[in-house]
Amino acid sequence: MSSVAEALSTMTRIRQRPDGTLLSLEETASRLNVAVEVVRAAVERGRWGWQIQLALLEYSRRHRIEIKEDFGVHNIELTNYCNLKCDYCPQPRMSRPKGHMSAETLAKCIERYQQRGSERRLLVHNFGEPLLHPDLEARLNQIAGAGINILMSTNGVLLEKKLPILLSIPCHIDVMLSVHLWVAQGFPAYIEALGTWQRRVNGTNVTVVNASNVTINNFFFHSWTSGRPVDWDYRRHCYFLRENIGTVLWNGDMASCCLDCNGESVFANIHDPGAASASTRPWHGCRTCDIPSHAQYRE
Ligand code: SF4
Ligand code: SF4
Repeated sequence: MSSVAEALSTMTRIRQRPDGTLLSLEETASRLNVAVEVVRAAVERGRWGWQIQLALLEYSRRHRIEIKEDFGVHNIELTNYCNLKCDYCPQPRMSRPKGHMSAETLAKCIERYQQRGSERRLLVHNFGEPLLHPDLEARLNQIAGAGINILMSTNGVLLEKKLPILLSIPCHIDVMLSVHLWVAQGFPAYIEALGTWQRRVNGTNVTVVNASNVTINNFFFHSWTSGRPVDWDYRRHCYFLRENIGTVLWNGDMASCCLDCNGESVFANIHDPGAASASTRPWHGCRTCDIPSHAQYRE
């Protein structure tokens, strides 16, 4: 269960009798097999802790109640331009048009993000280098002005030049330093560069963290959606499909996940009147996406 809104709507469905009236708190507790205090804390005091979330999830699974929530923003694509051409990345061969996210599209993303409220930080990267956005300062200030923190993955090429901008933004920014610049030099060189950046920003609003494809003593590369076909229950295990969370591309197109370089899974646009209720959907990349081979991506 990913948000209070989702828990609330699931609870309402579970409590509703066929005639539209609601079960009492005691009846609800007995139905969910939890103490009445747990239900009361959630319904009357808005405390949706793990006990009630687990109970709702278990009941929903047992009774095959589909949990469906409005679309949530997992990440946005500030830009799909890049200043590197990594040979293991599909970005250099991308078939969709290139562009930078406008203030209007970002405003829509922020609105959707806040309404769903399921993530702790707005991720501003997808296929492209976010520091290349020509109005970087204005866009980041727009996010910070909405009271949201930022997570940005960068290849590091422009980090020196753009650091003053990042330091001026009134929110916390986690900068995830990608490994691409250091692949040829090897893992120790990457770790050294990472440490240097971490010491450099120590005590500021910026934190530099390692990339998600870094393990204790090496980095690995995933194959996006070009893996070998795997029979896996993506509707159940894929975070994007299960939670109705996806990627908003620079032009507002909503894609089912951040592995879709060419926008083949686009199902709506954030400016559409019905965008909020649109849903991520399986697409042909799901069978060959390599998420099942990386256990850490499963949940
Ligand atoms: S991996 Fe990142 S830096 Fe390399 S080409 Fe792709 S988007 Fe650009
Ligand atoms: S390609 Fe993989 S990550 Fe993307 S929606 Fe399909 S199963 Fe999920």
